[in-house]
Amino acid sequence: MSEEQKVPQPEEAKKEEFQFQAEMSQLLHLITHSLYTHHEIFLRELISNSSDALNKLHFASLTDAKVLGDDGELKIDIDLNEEEKSFSIYDNGIGMTKDEFISNLGTIASSGTGNFIKQMTGDSKTDLELIGQFGVGFYAVYMVAEEVTVDSRSYESEEGFRWISKGTGSYTIEPIELKERGTRISFKFKKESEEFANKWRIESTIKKYSDFVSFPISLNSEKTNQSTALWAKAKNDIKDEEYKEFFKYIANSTKDPLSWMHLSVEAPVQFNSILFIPEEPDKFAMTNDMDTRLHLYVKRVFIQNDCKELIPQWLRFVKGVVDSEDLNLNISREVTQKNIVMEKINKYLVRKLLGEFKDWSEKEKERYEKFWGDFGYFIKEGIHTDFANREKLIELYRCQSSFEVDTLTSLNDYATRMGTDQEEIYYVYGKNRVAIENSPNLEYFKKNNIEVLYLFDEIDDFIMPSIATYKEKPLVGIDKADLKLKDEEVADKEKDTLEEGVKKKLLGYFKDILGERVEDVIESKRLVDSACTLVSPKEAMNANMERMMKMMDQDFKGGKRVMEVNMSNPLIQHLSDIQKKFPQDSMLKDCIEQLFEGASLLEGTLEDPSKLVPRTTLLMEKATELYLKSLES
Ligand code: ADP
Repeated sequence: MSEEQKVPQPEEAKKEEFQFQAEMSQLLHLITHSLYTHHEIFLRELISNSSDALNKLHFASLTDAKVLGDDGELKIDIDLNEEEKSFSIYDNGIGMTKDEFISNLGTIASSGTGNFIKQMTGDSKTDLELIGQFGVGFYAVYMVAEEVTVDSRSYESEEGFRWISKGTGSYTIEPIELKERGTRISFKFKKESEEFANKWRIESTIKKYSDFVSFPISLNSEKTNQSTALWAKAKNDIKDEEYKEFFKYIANSTKDPLSWMHLSVEAPVQFNSILFIPEEPDKFAMTNDMDTRLHLYVKRVFIQNDCKELIPQWLRFVKGVVDSEDLNLNISREVTQKNIVMEKINKYLVRKLLGEFKDWSEKEKERYEKFWGDFGYFIKEGIHTDFANREKLIELYRCQSSFEVDTLTSLNDYATRMGTDQEEIYYVYGKNRVAIENSPNLEYFKKNNIEVLYLFDEIDDFIMPSIATYKEKPLVGIDKADLKLKDEEVADKEKDTLEEGVKKKLLGYFKDILGERVEDVIESKRLVDSACTLVSPKEAMNANMERMMKMMDQDFKGGKRVMEVNMSNPLIQHLSDIQKKFPQDSMLKDCIEQLFEGASLLEGTLEDPSKLVPRTTLLMEKATELYLKSLES
């Protein structure tokens, strides 16, 4: 401490007033007015902050025992005065300096709150959902208190400070004499929150939320919690309720988890772990930069929140704790990164989780389908990124199929059902089942009873080429030009009456009209009813991928498509007749344009519909004229 700081200040200069950051005021308003239905959450948040402060101090003491001083018994003391309706919570953790007061309680630097504010939308319903996910920690206290006083002395300083605020607009900070290290938060309950000025109520809330806090918590000098880490207890001694509460505590959740796993492992490394799969993923879990929610402990001492090295990125929706016996307490960040023990734990956890998912998929189909609906995205990401576990992940893949309306299909289901002479596994991407089933590209498969996997998720269009083959059968999109279709299965051969030369001439005319807009125009083997369709040339991207590329890059030019024409279709046969008899007639050209633009529209690649609509009107005009004549005759 510098000499300068020791000089006593005149009384009035000591107390300084600060404004909350603008967004902070907004947040405080939201919390105090509409946030949680369960106001008791305030206690969980305060205890959790105290527990963090104690964990941090304990961690610092591992490298420098002096930080504990003669105050080595880390604890949380709560005092409640039922008559005066006042409450205080004290911990002898790391405490805060004046600067820390300003950055931790006055601005949005802190983790949970900061993330929350960044995502805030201004729509109170969405914001409330969000808040549930991030937790807003300390500020929850304003649900039950009008004005809050925080006294704190940092473990690195001799000076104490008092922070006071009503949670509206501003706060004050003044130096005060504090003998003990740590933080005390005190307030009087608001009139409408006086139910909490009740010892029994506070005690049961502590029990509910904080039994697994690993420091002793006392209420009016009586110890209230068990202060044993839940994961270190024998599984048989733990009730389901305790797991659920623990999950809510670490996940900031109001919902129960979907499932959990309690592992006590002796080999290859010794560790305890509780892993939770939440009911649904966090709103922002899909974006890659969300950290995992696995916390690392060593011999029951907290080391690190959100420890990335414990689990692969694609499993970031899993929450829980890992407590290792084989790591050194002094383990630093750099060491966790290339540590063989961490790698072994990581491998073990992945194996266990994959085993669990597989079990559900085989024995609890309904549960698995729900899981797949919520977390399938992550499995797909795993297929793409986790090479070591690719095979197992591919077995977990599910999608809809032309053969199954009510249940999902695995690649194995498909492979088991497919005929021995079928050389490829077929899939198609579309917005939904109806859109897919109306696609001309599907006609051949329907007619010949060949199963096609239906994909509705854009990511699937990347995953399928990434899987590439299953049981040695290539996975092929049905909008590719070079499908290995059997000629003899081509439909309606008897209607295919045009001579080869005539066909060639017509296709040539299509090419003349469409010019640079298509790669080629060929006779179709797959169309049954429709007149034409567009497909991708052999090595090209499919239509969906092109659409996505265009979304990302305005200047992206998609590859040209191949137009397939159905020579058995009556319209095509009429066109051939017109070409033979009246080769100069404009109807022929208009119809070819219309067919091309209609097919582009159907697959979502038509960029400019401005000609399509007037042309349709013109064609209808001609058709109705003839129609009227036929009615009158
Ligand atoms: P979060 O816990 O998500 O960071 P909070 O709003 O609960 O957000 O707390 C903000 C910050 O204030 C904490 O990150 C911590 O630095 C500080 N803080 C809160 N309570 C305490 C405490 N009891 N002891 C020391 N620091 C605390």
